[in-house]
Amino acid sequence: MSIVKVKTEGGAYSIHIAPNLLQQVGTSIPPDATSVVLISNPTVFGLYGKTVLQSLEASGKKISVFEVPDGEAYKTLETLNSIYTFLLEQRLDRRAVIVALGGGVIGDMCGFAAATYMRGIRFIQVPTTLLAQVDSSVGGKTAVNHPMGKNMIGAFYQPIAVDIDTTVLGTLPEREIAAGLAEVIKYGLILDAGFFDWCEQNVASLKALEPEAIGYAVQRSCELKAYVVSEDEKETGMRAILNLGHTFGHAIEAGLGFGTWLHGEAVGCGMVQAAELSARVCGFPQADVERVRALVAAIGCPVTAPDLGTDKWIELMQIDKKAEGGKIKFIVMPGIGQAKSQTVPREDLMLVLKKTTQK
Ligand code: NAD
Ligand code: MG
Repeated sequence: MSIVKVKTEGGAYSIHIAPNLLQQVGTSIPPDATSVVLISNPTVFGLYGKTVLQSLEASGKKISVFEVPDGEAYKTLETLNSIYTFLLEQRLDRRAVIVALGGGVIGDMCGFAAATYMRGIRFIQVPTTLLAQVDSSVGGKTAVNHPMGKNMIGAFYQPIAVDIDTTVLGTLPEREIAAGLAEVIKYGLILDAGFFDWCEQNVASLKALEPEAIGYAVQRSCELKAYVVSEDEKETGMRAILNLGHTFGHAIEAGLGFGTWLHGEAVGCGMVQAAELSARVCGFPQADVERVRALVAAIGCPVTAPDLGTDKWIELMQIDKKAEGGKIKFIVMPGIGQAKSQTVPREDLMLVLKKTTQK
């Protein structure tokens, strides 16, 4: 098992990563917990609920299970309220522990439920998508959506443990794997050139979910995210580099309608666009732009953006919450493994859009 330590002002905890770890989730339950609530959705609970329940039962605590419907459409205040109602009906006190079993939707929503139920109870993340394992379960951002915007209601709230079983990735659709790998590559691009090289060399093994390769990719991604989050838990500065490719990506997701492209697919394409932009504004070598394009294509994400029309592109990128005072800030790379935030001249942006969108 590999262990990654996360240290933030909001709490210190360990991420455990290993194949078949679901069988050991019970060991993460703290001795003073009064009871455990397992929250999942029918898809994930159907696949893995029994294994996790068996493991939790070994902790000797009172266990209850609550299922919420599957999908981003249910990451809402209404679903959250149904969770609160369940917790209250079960008469759970402040020493209850929530176990969130599922992808980022479950993790974000359970995290916010834990942050707010009785002013905060402990929770454990058991992420089951690649995106959740390398990104959403680490760092303490929790939220639900509001009709007026994604993740608009939430809190920074750290779990007490993250238990990552890499074996569960085997039941994920291929597109979800590709989308998760986009975020993996992102960590190499912003922080670790050696890891980017490693991803290039191991892309076939990663796509095939070979245990050693995927285990290392998850571990390294968690280490790099943990490092960023420990420096800047609440995104007042450095944490923004995690948004590489995301301003373009969000415009694609919103422009096509959320769910048309997976978030990671849009980010994959967005990183190619960010690389082109970096070549224009901060000297990123054109040869490296081609490496980014080739690797994003190799993991199975799109590398050509949809033609939303220039005005729409600009409008959507300005709505993105990283826009400041009308000027759009981008995360750009002076080189592979380095990232910074800067505003860019409109004409460079136009040229990049022209070059990277479908004709
Ligand atoms: P998701 O949670 O919707 O999961 C994708 C689909 O896969 C769902 O249908 C789910 O039921 C299913 N699934 C999950 N695990 C499975 C498995 N092992 N086998 C088969 N099917 C499985 O989507 P996601 O991509 O995991 O997460 C997206 C969410 O994460 C978004 O709401 C986004 O806002 C959030 N997010 C949060 C952060 C953060 O820092 N908190 C970061 C990135 C994304
Ligand atoms: Mg992302």
